[in-house]
Amino acid sequence: MTKKVGTMADMGEDLGKIYQTVIDRNPGEPEFHQAVHEVVSTLTPVFERHPHYADQRVLERICEPERQIIFRVPWMNDKNEIEINRAFRVEFNSALGPYKGGLRFHPSVYLGIIKFLGFEQIFKNALTGMPIGGGKGGSDFDPKGRSDAEVMRFCQSFMTELYRHMGEYTDVPAGDIGVGGREIGYLFGQYKRITNRYESGVLTGKGLGWGGSLVRTEATGYGTVFFAREMLTKIGQSFDGARVSVSGSGNVAIYAVQKAQELGAKVVAMSDSGGYIVDEAGIDLDLVREIKEVRRGRISEYVDARSSAHYSTEGSLWDVPVTVALPSATQNELHAQHAATLAKNGCVVVAEGANMPCTPEATTILTEAKVAFGPGKAANAGGVATSALEMQQNAARDNWTFEQTERRLEEIMVDIHEACATTAEDYGDPGNYVLGANIAGFIDVADAMIAHGVI
Ligand code: NDP
Repeated sequence: MTKKVGTMADMGEDLGKIYQTVIDRNPGEPEFHQAVHEVVSTLTPVFERHPHYADQRVLERICEPERQIIFRVPWMNDKNEIEINRAFRVEFNSALGPYKGGLRFHPSVYLGIIKFLGFEQIFKNALTGMPIGGGKGGSDFDPKGRSDAEVMRFCQSFMTELYRHMGEYTDVPAGDIGVGGREIGYLFGQYKRITNRYESGVLTGKGLGWGGSLVRTEATGYGTVFFAREMLTKIGQSFDGARVSVSGSGNVAIYAVQKAQELGAKVVAMSDSGGYIVDEAGIDLDLVREIKEVRRGRISEYVDARSSAHYSTEGSLWDVPVTVALPSATQNELHAQHAATLAKNGCVVVAEGANMPCTPEATTILTEAKVAFGPGKAANAGGVATSALEMQQNAARDNWTFEQTERRLEEIMVDIHEACATTAEDYGDPGNYVLGANIAGFIDVADAMIAHGVI
């Protein structure tokens, strides 16, 4: 993980001061600084064109979460020992709707990670065009290697505090790393028990039999590929016949691979936190799913069943020559050196399936090498957009078909791409999706905040 964040040289004096204040007020949170820097460094043209945003101090307000909740989660493990974890919910911004964003259970979780994710979520959610604000939560609990009973007891204790801050019109969590269908089930069950309400719209990512939406599982990966497809179209290329690498082998990665393959791509590499596989015959996704979703095993097991593949812990997945790279594992996984190698090997599109997987240095190298770069807050917004579609179905007591829901997801991703592309052009930097996404998201949130007064 890189600790280096951007400098103030790439923003004007006033914005530089705002960024410095964020650093001073949030010490020891480099991921949060990095996420704020990425947004603030692109906003100068907006403040030049709309000086009232500065008068209203709207950016300073956006950088300060509306509410931060930190709580203890005590629970009993299978040996009847007491374990104690720390948990967080950062309710960042409710200008556009109830706080919305996932819960992450991973040992690396601390306040700075949750704040970076929550901050990104504000702009991502605005880009979807859906009525949802930004929030994020989680815990340093590690579900890996825990029994189902342990995970259930942890989730029940976690919800015993969190429930008082939630509600379908208040704060609507979902899954993220370490929080899938099993965890959402336990969390929903405990919420229902405590509140004595069947409030379906209070959590998303639910099971299909009890308020979940078709396509939610696939949505982030599919959406990333729809976004990358639009990026490719813009430069006269397509997924058909393209070589693709996708990092990770979790929820986002698996469905990104599925959709890319459906569009005719040859996916040649995937990974997990242990290492990566390269299969020149094309990834056998059924095998990956069997290993990861059924056996909950390691990606290294893939090569036992495929003679065309090899597994490596040396070098990087990003050394494999591809036309399209979809980093879909975790933050800061694609560094400067990886970006340089991808560009040298002829990569033309990088779209972030994960949140902030590319370091700032990597993003700069890709941009300078004219590799089209789709930032996560735009490219992976399909997950939260489909969560909002789940909330719509819950509110209407309705269930949509797979085709209907996927069509809506596709439309949303095409619209997000269009908003980013036209905003970048409007602000004089065509093809700069980072600038387009940040400005388009910022304006929607800022205008709503100003309309609501100084709150
Ligand atoms: P999962 O927990 O399902 O999968 C994460 C995957 O990344 C696992 O394969 C994990 O491997 C791998 N991984 C973790 N760290 C590394 C590393 N350092 N190098 C290589 N691989 C690594 O999470 P998701 O797929 O849900 O989330 C992935 C990313 O997408 C996160 O950044 C998340 O915030 C973002 N995201 C997710 C959304 C969703 O709907 N799920 C929505 C929007 C964004 P291992 O099995 O070894 O741990």
